[in-house]
Amino acid sequence: MSVMTTIAAVRSFHPARSPRRAPRPRVVMTAVRSSTISAHPILTKLQRDCATPLPVLRHVSDAMAADMRDGLAADGGSDLKMILSYVDALPTGNEKGLFYALDLGGTNFRVLRVQLGGKSERVVATEFEQVSIPSELMFGTSEELFDFIASGLAKFANEEAGKFLFDQMGRTRELGFTFSFPVKQTSIDSGILIKWTKGFAVSGTAGKDVVSCLNEAMERLGMNMRVSALVNDTVGTLAGARYWDDDVMVAVILGTGTNACYVERVEAIPKLLLDPNSKSGSMIVNTEWGAFANGIPLTEFDREMDAESINPGEQIFEKTISGMYLGEIARRVLLKMAKEDRIFGESVPEKLQTPYSLRTPDICAIQQDSSKDFEVVGSILHEVSGVNSNPSSRKIVMDVCDTIAKRGGRLAGAGIVGILQKMEGDTKGVIFGKRTVVAMDGGLYEHYPQYRNYLQEAVTELLGVEASKNIVIEHSKDGSGIGAALLAATNSMYEH
Ligand code: ADP
Ligand code: MG
Repeated sequence: MSVMTTIAAVRSFHPARSPRRAPRPRVVMTAVRSSTISAHPILTKLQRDCATPLPVLRHVSDAMAADMRDGLAADGGSDLKMILSYVDALPTGNEKGLFYALDLGGTNFRVLRVQLGGKSERVVATEFEQVSIPSELMFGTSEELFDFIASGLAKFANEEAGKFLFDQMGRTRELGFTFSFPVKQTSIDSGILIKWTKGFAVSGTAGKDVVSCLNEAMERLGMNMRVSALVNDTVGTLAGARYWDDDVMVAVILGTGTNACYVERVEAIPKLLLDPNSKSGSMIVNTEWGAFANGIPLTEFDREMDAESINPGEQIFEKTISGMYLGEIARRVLLKMAKEDRIFGESVPEKLQTPYSLRTPDICAIQQDSSKDFEVVGSILHEVSGVNSNPSSRKIVMDVCDTIAKRGGRLAGAGIVGILQKMEGDTKGVIFGKRTVVAMDGGLYEHYPQYRNYLQEAVTELLGVEASKNIVIEHSKDGSGIGAALLAATNSMYEH
């Protein structure tokens, strides 16, 4: 596999490079060791295999930037798809009126309405509702699914009252549609579904325009509403954050999965320039960076998890940094420690052998325990994995969790720097010469403080203290819903 060859290459060069920086992580590790009864060999090897010293981070950020360029040059040109969003006008704050959004990305869909009051009043009011999708619809026909969604939307729209005012006679209500499944877009308001993912197996949608599917379902119900913008959740997050802050150039989601998008100049997108309808200016590009794989330090646990996953060999970056996997990697390490070294006693509990039984929120909670004997760690381990532990095995568990979170956070940070470097490389000063904001969202980023700190630390290490002062990495909570409504406003059929 190409991934492994590259890693070997990275390993061989990093000890030689930058000897000045090498002692730093070692100091930290000595401190950790002195508080444990004895260093555990599996832990020591894990820490070595997961290490992300500066040369590794630098390799990752450089490779990310290079893969981005290749993906922009041609479809299929790199691991990164670099999907064109056709979002070429970002919210300015001047948007006015009532707009709707629909977010479909998992087992729930969310509907939202927002009353926009322009520069002075901004967001006058918002309201949203969440509807869960009955599981039989995930295996039904396309029409059944979209009829269900449209009827939820119709019910929600019928409750429009109070501060929400649609006073545009003869017009139709406009909707921003956040759709987090792979689509091939050719314009802001159309996109062909490539395939369903995340457990959906709806027949008859693949190969069709999902915007038409929704518009037709709304028509069948006689609704006065249509889709003006089809966006990915990362793109929605960027638009939502940009509404409040003109310096937002990048958005990153770190939740169950991960993705990133950024504002690119049209001249820097060769594959778009081939399109006769391309305009000058800029466009949001959805990197689909979860598929990145170049030079990521991997362990035996990652390789085994990948091999047993539903998509072996794919989404390697996602499998190393996102919420779905961090707990599972840690579980695999603990299982090996339990089997080979009996750190939890003679028998290996059933629960610890169950894939995905240790979740990322669990390893996060484990890391928050500051009590002397790590009692919280003990009870989480017992509850989730059925293991009995003592203070010294709990300390080892904490170090395992920290190692996995550290690698994830630092690699995510290197990925962000890769995007910034790509943008700066095209136009000097455009990123590092002024304030630039990276909008972050997703449950992992929001709830895991150590992960967040490791991410920031890697960005600062890579950029240096001075340059990193201009880079603001900021949580933008749930911006994607409003972002989609804003893009419906920006792309309103009545304004063009
Ligand atoms: P999604 O990515 O599914 O759209 P979210 O952005 O809300 O949804 O992210 C949910 C994910 O965030 C969970 O799958 C989990 O991996 C991670 N997560 C949630 N809570 C925590 C927590 N307390 N600590 C660490 N990770 C968490
Ligand atoms: Mg999400």
